[in-house]
Parts: sequence; structure tokens; C-alpha cells
Amino acid sequence: MLSFEQARHVVEEHASSLFPHGEERVGLLESIGRVLAEPLVADRNFPPFPRATRDGYAVRAADLNPLPATLAVIGEIKAGAELSLRVGSGQTAAIMTGAPAPAGADAVVMVEYTSRQGNRVEVSRGVAVGENIVPRGAEAKQGERLLAAGIRLDAAAIALASSVGKSHLLVYIKPRVAVLATGDELVDVDVSPGPQQIRNSNSYSLAAQIRAAGGEPVLLPIAPDEPERLRELIDEGRKTNLLLLSGGVSAGRYDLVEQVLGDMKAEFLFTGVEIQPGRPMVFGRLPGSAAEFPRGRDPDSRYFFGLPGNPVSTMVTFELFAKPVVRALAGMTPTKLVFLRARLKSEVKTKTGLQRFLPAVLSGEFDQAEVELVPWHGSGDMAATARANCYLVLTPAQERIMAGEWVPVLLR
Ligand code: AMP
Ligand code: MG
Repeated sequence: MLSFEQARHVVEEHASSLFPHGEERVGLLESIGRVLAEPLVADRNFPPFPRATRDGYAVRAADLNPLPATLAVIGEIKAGAELSLRVGSGQTAAIMTGAPAPAGADAVVMVEYTSRQGNRVEVSRGVAVGENIVPRGAEAKQGERLLAAGIRLDAAAIALASSVGKSHLLVYIKPRVAVLATGDELVDVDVSPGPQQIRNSNSYSLAAQIRAAGGEPVLLPIAPDEPERLRELIDEGRKTNLLLLSGGVSAGRYDLVEQVLGDMKAEFLFTGVEIQPGRPMVFGRLPGSAAEFPRGRDPDSRYFFGLPGNPVSTMVTFELFAKPVVRALAGMTPTKLVFLRARLKSEVKTKTGLQRFLPAVLSGEFDQAEVELVPWHGSGDMAATARANCYLVLTPAQERIMAGEWVPVLLR
């Protein structure tokens, strides 16, 4: 049984040896949310011309001494205008934000400090050389690498890609992640359940989490608590890039997942983590067909997670442990798990010994983050979890936390 931190390190370590399984070129809009598989490089200088950042007058800073100074207006430059004007001594050109500064000018004085009469303008305030102009190439030089492969393409990355003219981008192929729900009591969502039956929800929560992590879920049929069929479906699942099982990992007589995986020569990297919910989960890998490879060097081996069947446990353990593996297979640069801090709204009493991740609501605005547990009935309570927007983290040593204390929170 590992601590939460130990288990997380094991997963991160194994995830760091994983790679995506190929690349494809897609249109810019199709690439939103995908993982960049090529660096983004500046195809020209940014900005490509010295760019005015204010509306005003392009001047030679030295001309504004003494003040007020009167200059001859030789033209007007708007954004997109061709670079033809040249400002000489005693001259100026009206200029708009985003327009190219003319040759000869070395600063822009804001329109607020000027007063115009016909072809002359009086300037009441001086400027430093370079003021209100971003020099050509100041943000990036042509050929400079702006973004490395391995980032998820969000709005800012998409903006950058379009600014360097990439109408198509190379992205990683999404990893296929098999989902295998186990349990004799389970029926699928479109089947009317008998009084003793439960609808399979874990396959769907996992599918949603896999997608959010950059993977493509492959839902397998429900596995009964019966070794032959379970083995068949695990064999099916190992054809994908990662296998997630739910249920059947506790100590019960019909919890067969560990046993069947063991029979299939699985190597277990851990069995059990000191967390709640989610304690009985297992992580390991199945050998590939190439039996001659030593353990850990087998290129066809498949990682698997056996996640506990309780719906909240399944979600929490995916978030904490399976997600970094999916992200690695998707080609994303690894990140550490980040906890935010918020003030506890009302006192919490807890049992000690396990790191707990409890569904909670984070609220408040600006710097007033407050967190409160949602009332729940344990790790089967999906409705409570659906109303939550985060997990409140209780560390193993704590017994009682008072209202107003700062507590760690995991966003989801
Ligand atoms: P297990 O981990 O197999 O002992 O299951 C623990 C609890 O989670 C039991 O109450 C199961 O009925 C429930 N459960 C297991 N798998 C699923 C599933 N796929 N969808 C919803 N509930 C499940
Ligand atoms: Mg079960």
C-alpha cells in the first residue's frame, strides 16, 4: 500500500517513458484542443515593422526640446498603410495604433499631448526615444521557436499559430484508451434495469475524462464477474494504448480483476493507495506478445489501471493517477498536480490515516476563494459529485479542520 505521493510518483515516472503513436496534419480549426506535434516558428519578424502602440504623432524625440514644440505635419499613417513616408527634422506624421512608424521618426507622442492647427501641430510634452513604438522583431525574430511540441492547442496557441500563417498543423494521434466496466449487477444505459441491477455509469464518466485528457475512449462490453469472459475482454482491451478497468479490485470473493490480470502475467506496479475514495486501485502492465523482452523493456507491453467500481472512486482515481498516463500517450509535456488553496467555509471532521478527496464547491470572487463540502452519502453518490466543482483535499494527519482555515483544493 503506497501513500498518495508515492503512488503519484510511480505513475509520473512510468508516464514519462510513454510517447504518442503518430502524427497527423489537420486544419487550424480542427486542431483546437489537440496536442501540437511540431514547434511553432516565427515565419517573419514580430512585429514585422516598428509598430505604433498609440494614436498620436510620429516624431523625432530630439525635436521636442524646448517645449512646447511646433512641427510640420507631412501626412497621416493608418494601420495597413505602406511604408513610404519619411519624417525629417521639424516634421511629424499623424499615426494610428498598429500603423508602421515612418522612417526618420523614433517615438510617438500621444494625441492627448498635441493640438493641431491645419498642417501644424503643437506638442506640449516630450517623449523618450522609442516611446510608444515596438521595434521590428522585438517580440520575436524570424526563425525563432515560439512554442515547442507537446502543448494542448488552446485559444492563445491557436492565435499564435494563425499569426505565423499555419492554416494546417501537425498534431499527435489521440491514444485509444479501452474502458472495461466489470460487475454482474451492471446493465448498459439503454437497458431497463431489474430491481437488483445497476446502470453502468463508470464507462461514461471515464469516457468523458479520457476525452478531456486528450484520448479517444473505446468502450468495451460490460464484463461479468467471471474469469473466462473477463480475460477475453482484457485481451480485447490490450489492443489499444491503455486499458482502464472499473470494479472488481476490492477484496471480495468475486473481485476477480487482480487475479485474472495476474494469471495473464501482469506486473503490478502498485496495489492499493492510502487515499479515500479509491484505496483498492491497482496499476500495472501486461506483457506484449514478445516474451523475450525483459520486464519493463517490452515495447508491446500495455499499462492498465484497475480502478475501484464506486462511481466517485472511479472518477477520483482517474483524475489522480490515470490522467497523467493518458496525457503522456497523447504527447503532452508532463505537468505536476497543482492544488489551489481556499478558505474552508464550515468545520470538517474526518477520520485520519488516508488522504481524502471529497466533492466540494469552490465559490467566492476575486481573492475570496471559499470551499465547502457537498453533503454526500459516500463514494457511490454521483449526484453530490455532479453538483460539486472540485475536490477538497484532507491530509492523512488531520482530524478536524476549523472554518476559516486554508485548505488544498483540486480543481476538476
Ligand atoms: P466494486 O468495486 O466492483 O466492488 O463495486 C463497488 C460499487 O460500485 C458497487 O456498489 C457497484 O455496484 C458499483 N459499480 C461498480 N461498477 C460500476 C459501474 N460501471 N457503474 C456504476 N456503478 C458501478
Ligand atoms: Mg464488482
